Amino acid sequence: MAYEQLRAMGSSHKSLQAVLAAPGVKVKKVTSLSADGLTDFIQSMISKKQEMKDPFYVLDFGVVVSLMDKWKRSLPNVRPFYAVKCNPHPAFLAALAALGVSFDCASRAEIEAVLALGVSADRIIYANPCKAEAQIKYAASVGVNLTTFDSREEIDKLRRWHPKCSLLLRLKAPDDGGARCPLGPKYGALPEEVTPLLQAAHVARLTVAGVSFHVGSGATHSRAYSGAIAAAKAVFDTAVGLGMPRMSILNVGGGFTAGVGPQFEDAAATINAAIKVHFLDESGLTVIAEPGRFFAETAFTLATNIIGKRVRGKLREYWINDGIYGSMNCILYDHATVTATPLACTSNRSNPTCRGGKTYTSTVFGPTCDALDTILTGHQLPELQVNDWLLFPNMGAYTASAGSNFNGFNTSAIPTHLAFSPPAPC
Ligand SMILES: *Cc1c(COP(=O)(O)O)cnc(C)c1O
Repeated sequence: MAYEQLRAMGSSHKSLQAVLAAPGVKVKKVTSLSADGLTDFIQSMISKKQEMKDPFYVLDFGVVVSLMDKWKRSLPNVRPFYAVKCNPHPAFLAALAALGVSFDCASRAEIEAVLALGVSADRIIYANPCKAEAQIKYAASVGVNLTTFDSREEIDKLRRWHPKCSLLLRLKAPDDGGARCPLGPKYGALPEEVTPLLQAAHVARLTVAGVSFHVGSGATHSRAYSGAIAAAKAVFDTAVGLGMPRMSILNVGGGFTAGVGPQFEDAAATINAAIKVHFLDESGLTVIAEPGRFFAETAFTLATNIIGKRVRGKLREYWINDGIYGSMNCILYDHATVTATPLACTSNRSNPTCRGGKTYTSTVFGPTCDALDTILTGHQLPELQVNDWLLFPNMGAYTASAGSNFNGFNTSAIPTHLAFSPPAPC
């Protein structure tokens, strides 16, 4: 489906049904929302099944379309490869595919999930610098011909199992961007390792097509990109100096956020400027990126139900049916801060629970029997009751994808309902 068609889905959401017809997508129903219609939609989902109190997600395709607009406006010359690990929901992947996004996969299962949507193998980068041999063989068998490396051992495996694969040398970014989750401690060649790795790849007759880096996930300052782009250019020059074929791909990785604030625009401006400064003389350069959080975070809202309550003096304690071992694992692993809003208080209709604004210092626990399973402490909430609903916005990034089924609470069983709100005007 063409991008313009998907953009017009607000008026004709029949075409969205076509996205959902993609093999691999099981949910087939999308509900069109009016502007600010998300709360009413969640309310209607809850009223439809009164007895059903299980947690659920809402994926808003309108948000995805707006984010793609934003990307194209700010980084028109950078082709996005969405990092599947961030949120692999099949309908979400299908919408991105329909918008023309390509994919960053790190495993056989992720490659299979993307191929199952009808996406061609040339729209996949196998962006894991350290891959099992069996998975390299699989990539070769399906024609995924672009990957990253940062060690000699990886060169040996690729020479043996996938000699046609083009390689990007993953560099350790000189600066981790003040990231919430730095990746430098695990991946990326050090400056002194660059020349020996390029030589080894050349001797192995592998094509090193370019350079990649990741400034860290949840990066907070954008100057990290300019240092890494300068370092990448130095590698392009080193390859020429070694008599290797000219490199042509620059992969600026992930680390983008779409939430409130200027982070994304700052990062985009920094990247555009650094490419202009450092790569002016590189004709035929292809620039790609691997955004994960940027596309996933704000597109998903989580609705949870209050299953328990305890009053201790002025303190209110609540138990909800998702937690640290489920979607909120992001608090531990992604160092995320989550926010909870009672469903009753999200619509502007005056509600007896929220009217008057009296709040209590509250704790919100997850459902498992581990005390670690604590989602919020010292949080101000109005007086709530068992069976009330708590909403968590911006829960699309590194949430459901990393939850477990500890204690019998199965994260992957949480359903996702699909909605389409009118995309924000460009
Ligand atoms: C996780 C990851 C990404 C996505 O990072 P975000 O910070 O979510 O944009 C991109 N590339 C690689 C190699 C990754 O490991």
